[in-house]
Amino acid sequence: TMNTITPELEFTFLEEGFSARDTVEQKINESSVTDDRDAFYVCDLGDVIKKHLRWTRALPRITPFYAVKCNDSRPVVATLASLGIGFDCASKTEIQLVQSLGVDPSRIIYANPCKQVSQIKYASAHGIQMMTFDSEVELMKVARYHDNAKLVLRIATDDSKAVCRLSVKFGAQLKSCRGLLERAKELGLDVIGVSFHVGSGCTDPATYTQAIADARCVFDMGDELGFNMHLLDIGGGFPGSDNVQLKFEEITVVINLALDKYFPVDAGVKIIAEPGRFYVASAYTLVVNIIAKKVILDEDIGSDEEDEGTNEKTLMYYVNDGVYGSFNCIFFDHAHCLPTLHKKPKPDEIMYPCSIWGPTCDGLDRIAEQCYLPDMQVGDWLVFDNMGAYTVAASSTFNGFQRPDIHYVMSHSVWQHVQQICSHGMPASTEESCLFEVPACCGRESSLEIPTKPCQAHVV
Ligand SMILES: *Cc1c(COP(=O)(O)O)cnc(C)c1O
Repeated sequence: TMNTITPELEFTFLEEGFSARDTVEQKINESSVTDDRDAFYVCDLGDVIKKHLRWTRALPRITPFYAVKCNDSRPVVATLASLGIGFDCASKTEIQLVQSLGVDPSRIIYANPCKQVSQIKYASAHGIQMMTFDSEVELMKVARYHDNAKLVLRIATDDSKAVCRLSVKFGAQLKSCRGLLERAKELGLDVIGVSFHVGSGCTDPATYTQAIADARCVFDMGDELGFNMHLLDIGGGFPGSDNVQLKFEEITVVINLALDKYFPVDAGVKIIAEPGRFYVASAYTLVVNIIAKKVILDEDIGSDEEDEGTNEKTLMYYVNDGVYGSFNCIFFDHAHCLPTLHKKPKPDEIMYPCSIWGPTCDGLDRIAEQCYLPDMQVGDWLVFDNMGAYTVAASSTFNGFQRPDIHYVMSHSVWQHVQQICSHGMPASTEESCLFEVPACCGRESSLEIPTKPCQAHVV
């Protein structure tokens, strides 16, 4: 079946030499001529595609199944669908979203070990077979409510060093795996492999090595019991930007070594992963506006009026997105968000200790407790990079503050590259996966020609 990307997906095609950052500038300029300075996002779909190329280079053996919960924006999911990758869905609605983009059920793993019965039935009725489990009760539900599930046993990992731990809630301990596999056998279920998640924001690649070694043990148990164990799912946990201590490639080197040791190519095991953050974090830039400001004079230093140029005041900036909106990641994702300045500071510009607050009336709504920024005015802009993961997906409109608009763009060089790989066939994905066509609004049929003017583009 063809995966047809719906025409409602629209993005602005960037002119040659222009980047998403230029779009940020342009939107700021457009907005600054009005009083209507709402917060907004620029999402570079080209960055998402670049991440995929980076993935295939670093992890050639592993097929990614994007974790939809990380960012379920339709254009992002559609872009990933067009690259032919798979999807990790955790609910009926996520399955619906992915299937509405024409993705074949074989490219979906229902990677939630604790599922509602009605949603298991939904998966069964819609051809989703791969699903995870980590308990006996889940096996009994699947045996009763799913016609032909292909089960993947989720094992716990030592995620004590991850930013967001998951193995407190999910994953069977190694010592209970044999019992679970035996129970699956009794119930006549088909177990095809093992999955794990090292925790989101993994800081220690040795966690992957240990988990891959543990998965090997469970594979051997499964094989002994007569299952055809052929799927290893190494989950997520990869960084979303290079603004971290441990870079993506430093993790993948370790993973590849572990895979070659425990799951060598000739073992014939299919290897998948469920990256979320990796694909989307750096694609999104959030731009917020300063809507209010307070100056707190530092009494300890005294009121030496002439002494301008020392840190004798603290500034409080109030901006038009906060922790109930995009910055929910501060609570749910343990994120630390610091802005970059829109206007470059002068070399001798004085930086003041500042706090940054969201727009709601809740005292909890604080984005940064202390950072150093120049003395800015109401109406000035602050830019937050790397805001694509676990931000828009979980934001609310608490207190009546609306979610920022998202402007989707696609950069020229990436577009060119996609056209090339789509015409020459892409490794590590299926033929029908290449659905990028030259935007219909440019009046061209599919070709390698690159439009020279920015325009609204459709991915068909
Ligand atoms: C959240 C989640 C992911 C994605 O994790 P990242 O750290 O964003 O890569 C993958 N798999 C499962 C089962 C998850 O719950």
